[in-house]
Amino acid sequence: MADHTYDYDVLIIGSGPGGYVAAIRAAQLGLKVACAESRETLGGTCLNVGCIPSKAMLHGSEKFDEAASGALARYGVKLGKVEFDLAALLADKDDAVKGLTGGIEFLFKKNKVDWLKGHGAFKDAHTVEVAGKAYTAKNVVIATGSSVTPLPGVEVDNAKGIVVDSTGALALPKVPGHLVVIGGGVIGLELGSVWRRLGAKVTVVEFLDQLLPGMDMDVRKEAAKIFKKQGMELRLSTKVTACAVKGKKATLTLEPAAGGANETLDADCVLVSIGRRPNTAGLALENIGLDLNARGQIEADHEFRTKVDGVWAIGDVIPGPMLAHKAEDEGIAVAENIAGLTGIVNHDVIPSVVYTMPEIAGVGLTEDQAKEKGAEVKVGKFPMLANSRAKTNHEPDGFVKVIADAATDRVLGVWCIASVAGTMIAQAAQAMEFGATSEDIAYTCHAHPTHSEAIKEAAMAVTGKPIHI
Ligand code: FAD
Ligand code: NAD
Repeated sequence: MADHTYDYDVLIIGSGPGGYVAAIRAAQLGLKVACAESRETLGGTCLNVGCIPSKAMLHGSEKFDEAASGALARYGVKLGKVEFDLAALLADKDDAVKGLTGGIEFLFKKNKVDWLKGHGAFKDAHTVEVAGKAYTAKNVVIATGSSVTPLPGVEVDNAKGIVVDSTGALALPKVPGHLVVIGGGVIGLELGSVWRRLGAKVTVVEFLDQLLPGMDMDVRKEAAKIFKKQGMELRLSTKVTACAVKGKKATLTLEPAAGGANETLDADCVLVSIGRRPNTAGLALENIGLDLNARGQIEADHEFRTKVDGVWAIGDVIPGPMLAHKAEDEGIAVAENIAGLTGIVNHDVIPSVVYTMPEIAGVGLTEDQAKEKGAEVKVGKFPMLANSRAKTNHEPDGFVKVIADAATDRVLGVWCIASVAGTMIAQAAQAMEFGATSEDIAYTCHAHPTHSEAIKEAAMAVTGKPIHI
């Protein structure tokens, strides 16, 4: 569809999992594509300071924990004194980031996507200025992602390493004695787990009365029990009202969320992880008359069109869960829509995973959400303790919960805590995408012995007939 009125058919602002995937898909569909990125490397938050480095640190710290805790002795693996070299772990993480961000650069070259290096800002709906040069495009996709939500009174300084955000917490030069995490969400629990395993005492301060908002309540409660058992201190229903840094220590002022007496808490390191907010500053949206909604997001319709003709938006900058795979799927869909095909994302079936040990995963509605929507539900649960593979592997924590519509048996949501819950949840997402009933899952043959059999048994439990409990 090359239109020579413009420099490009599509210009994408931002090269995260939304932007880079959109760029590659659009190029695959024969469009002339450019992608503006202000970071030194491609791949956005996810590859540079998010999903990938955090998973490298989670994996490495699990290995250390396995060796140092003596857990391998039961397999006859006898270790001498186990030592830990943080610099080596950080280097392994940097290596993973370098390999994958470089991989996107390779894919851009292979697909003939031009990387416009610098910050992109709108001059008009079809003109974007990057590093002092104006580029025109028939379609512009805003894929600028998100960044850390600041907490008033708690100033982040990643360079000092005392009060940090997730980026700082992925590069601490030494293991802190006491790490206080503000926010018991995904980042706080993942990065809190990393540093706990490496030797820090970890306290999580959470405003709400339970961890992991948005997840099923049974899962949230069980997760809290597991993290406590692992040694994390949880301060639920508590807010941080101030933070004073003196020398190499921080002193936080805590207050009950509902108000009440103050107390102080000393920390060697404070991680601020209270959420993320969309990146829209500096885009000069006023030049195209595009407003933000009350949450600072850009609104897009189901085809990812904004209200400005020719301008599209995807990923963390639009409403919905701030997840890399959601951004990626939107990237594919927007490219297909721009190319005149039909790109669709089913926002009702977006899995989410917390990569702690055990992992915590879910897809679809929570039991409360299903009831709020007026559905009468039937629930089946199956404990990992009764799953032969989990039991054999000494991974007894967690359960699978299948929520089905009582009238139609259609699966409305699946939630699990299990060592490999992140892998298990894919089958639940696929089943839901195909409109499965709990009976469909229950009568699907699952390989034995696998953790996934727990999904089958939980589905069987919806109608009261699991075999192994
Ligand atoms: P981003 O990845 O944020 O990319 C946007 C890019 O646009 C950035 O590189 C930015 O520099 C660039 N940009 C912004 N404005 C401009 C401009 N004006 N001009 C040029 N460039 C611009 N999600 C998961 O699904 N799984 C995980 O395990 C996971 N782990 C995470 C761990 C951490 C510590 C963090 C912080 C996030 C994690 N996430 C995870 C969330 C995930 O990173 C985001 O949902 C995802 O990166 C969003 O993709 P995006 O393309 O919308 O934006
Ligand atoms: P989050 O929304 O997951 O959790 C923030 C937590 O902070 C919530 O529990 C909230 O109640 C609490 N909070 C808010 N204000 C507070 C305050 N003043 N004091 C104490 N607690 C407070 O946010 P996050 O952990 O910062 O992660 C940001 C985003 O990044 C999430 O939306 C998540 O989807 C994404 N992410 C995903 C993954 C993954 O998929 N595995 C990993 C990391 C990040």
